[in-house]
Amino acid sequence: MLDELRRIVQKVNAAKDLNSALEIIVRRVRKTFSTQVCSVYLQDNDINGHVLMASEGLNKEAVGNVSLGLGQGLVGLVAKHAEPINLEDASLHPSYYYLKETGEEIFHAFLGVPIIHHRKVLGVLVVQHEKRRRFDEGEEAFLITLSAQLAGVIAHAEATGAIKGVSPSGQKISDTIFSGVSGAPGVAIGQITVVFPLADLDQIPERRISDIEREIQFFNRCLGAVQDDMRALQNQLAGQIPEEELQLFDAYVRMLDDNVLGNEVVRRIEQGFWAQGALSYVAKEHIRTFEMMNNEYLSERSVDIRDLCSRILFYLQEKESIVIEYADDTILVSDELTPAMLVDVPKEKLRGLISVKGSSNSHVAILARAMGVPTVMGAVDLPLNQLDSHEIILDGYDGVVISNPSSQMLARYGDTIKEQDHLIAGLENLKNLPCETPDNHRVRLWVNTGLMSDIVNSLDQGAEGIGLFRTEVPFLLSERFPSEQEQADIYREQLRTFAPNFVTMRSLDVGGDKDLPYFPINEENPFLGWRGIRVTLDHPEIFMAQIRAMLRASIGFGNLQIMLPMVSNVNEVTSSLQLIKKAHRELLQEGLNIKFPPIGVMIEVPGAVYQTRALAKLVDFISVGSNDLTQYLLAVDRNNPRVANLYSAFHPAVLQALQYVVSQARLESKSVSICGEMAGDPGAAVLLMAMGFDVLSMNASSLLRVKSVIRDVTLKSAKKLLDQVLKMDDPQLIRNAVDLTLRNAGVDRLLRSSRAN
Ligand code: PEP
Ligand code: MG
Repeated sequence: MLDELRRIVQKVNAAKDLNSALEIIVRRVRKTFSTQVCSVYLQDNDINGHVLMASEGLNKEAVGNVSLGLGQGLVGLVAKHAEPINLEDASLHPSYYYLKETGEEIFHAFLGVPIIHHRKVLGVLVVQHEKRRRFDEGEEAFLITLSAQLAGVIAHAEATGAIKGVSPSGQKISDTIFSGVSGAPGVAIGQITVVFPLADLDQIPERRISDIEREIQFFNRCLGAVQDDMRALQNQLAGQIPEEELQLFDAYVRMLDDNVLGNEVVRRIEQGFWAQGALSYVAKEHIRTFEMMNNEYLSERSVDIRDLCSRILFYLQEKESIVIEYADDTILVSDELTPAMLVDVPKEKLRGLISVKGSSNSHVAILARAMGVPTVMGAVDLPLNQLDSHEIILDGYDGVVISNPSSQMLARYGDTIKEQDHLIAGLENLKNLPCETPDNHRVRLWVNTGLMSDIVNSLDQGAEGIGLFRTEVPFLLSERFPSEQEQADIYREQLRTFAPNFVTMRSLDVGGDKDLPYFPINEENPFLGWRGIRVTLDHPEIFMAQIRAMLRASIGFGNLQIMLPMVSNVNEVTSSLQLIKKAHRELLQEGLNIKFPPIGVMIEVPGAVYQTRALAKLVDFISVGSNDLTQYLLAVDRNNPRVANLYSAFHPAVLQALQYVVSQARLESKSVSICGEMAGDPGAAVLLMAMGFDVLSMNASSLLRVKSVIRDVTLKSAKKLLDQVLKMDDPQLIRNAVDLTLRNAGVDRLLRSSRAN
């Protein structure tokens, strides 16, 4: 059974569209069950019902033409309760509704299971049989398992149709909503550009070209190059490898020589598609066909096709560097956005960002917030290669993308954009005003930086210091480890611009979701693995070069602070301190006059929370990294959109941990700051102020919003709110209580515009 299950899922996965996917499902399931009918009904919101989308066993003419209203019949009942129904004789059930076009009156046994994707019922999978008999437990379990596995594929296939503006039953539709999570607040309307990694046949977007002749010639040249390679390889290997294996090259050369593949690609280019997209389309078709074959030898040939086509793709990409023409209102979309992709687009043209993978606290989302670009993360159902050039609405507040927007929807969001601009303009007046509550409590608002452009932005927003400079960002954008001198130049720029205010530089924090292309770390469980201080202590040469660069950069400014990430025990701190002191000594011996900087430890690991006091004894300040602390306390991967709804800095465990850290740091009279994203959430900032954090460090685009709230909420009411929420046990209720306080203080205009987690 397991093998059969795998085979069905694999074949459905390879189907080219929704209808072929459903065809495969009904055909294969009917055969596996040795039953007479298998059908799939899908919910179509446009007609408020379930449409019979595919069937083996019912009248073919009924397929696509009959439907049941929502809640109608047994299918409606399965969908409504999201539970299977297994009946010996369906016609005896009170909910039985007979659709005469289907000819189903002769079938008595009925088993229907819901198809559920992300808690939403997409439709119902049904098997039926003439005999009056109950499908046995094993059959029911099989169908449930299958349906759970197919739900994602069906959702994806539906999404592909929706992007083209058609519903499952073929109706023209608009305003289809694709859900993700908020990455950075704001709304954007724009045109999509898909960016994709090279050498991956599956991720090439469809794109249109105008010079068809040129594209065909280009493709033929690349095809020829692969043919030459194959022949050369075959000659080279003749006599060296067994005859049998050499025949594989024969097969390759033949596949290219008889030009079946090439001709199909050319035909697609003639329809106006670019060569890479045409190749990807044809390759996937052939791969699908081979994979569908029941004969194992033949289905293995799909691997050969993939290999050959990847070789052609290599030439297509190598020979032609793609110069992307970004539209004036570009919305950049990728399977997995990277910092390098973000900085590639001219800033004035970038309206929004969408990443299929990742979540609101992925590092790329943090960068997006720092840049102030509306972003949706984890839009897992978006059919990536169909998106290029589409106009869409991106709602970074609610984390949704709307395709085929209607004129009413465009008008509505156009108004939101105006409101948003108006609000931002209003906040500008606060730039030079102090961050002080109405009862005269002063709060220090600092910024988190990484990109050079952040500095200008931060100063512009009136930041009073840098609470976190993510030094790994320049490392991520580089092609090798930057040298000590290169680092010193970058760090000096930050220190100079902010002098005399403090700049807190964090030692290199790679690992987790921050992979350096030139220093890959492949681990099963990267967030629990070799990360942050663990990496740099194992590579003292990297750590020392960085510390020396920081110290040298600080000459003449004296405003440097150094901070250590991902600390989980005191030994890591004492070892780091030894290295920092050594670097300082070396530089003094080289004749440089450098002040020894304040050193801090980040509290990001639950274990470190309980060691705050011991850690505080060793250093000058404590800084909480609430992004990681939340992920580790709640065991919720900050990158995983599936569990994004569980990630909340308002969880009572997070709030209590934060309060505990402040109290422990106080016992050692050490200053305590917070530099996670929650500091930039106006509601959370009010709680953090009440807890006694000395510094709130946030992305520059949140700074004025937070200042605006703090200037309107007294410390007294903030403390009252904190007392109240520390007694509560539900994150959502805590969030509501915080929102209510902001509303009472008259600053609810900022609620929607600032929410990002
Ligand atoms: C944090 O974890 O809260 C933090 C500030 O560090 P990063 O987001 O870079 O992991
Ligand atoms: Mg962190």
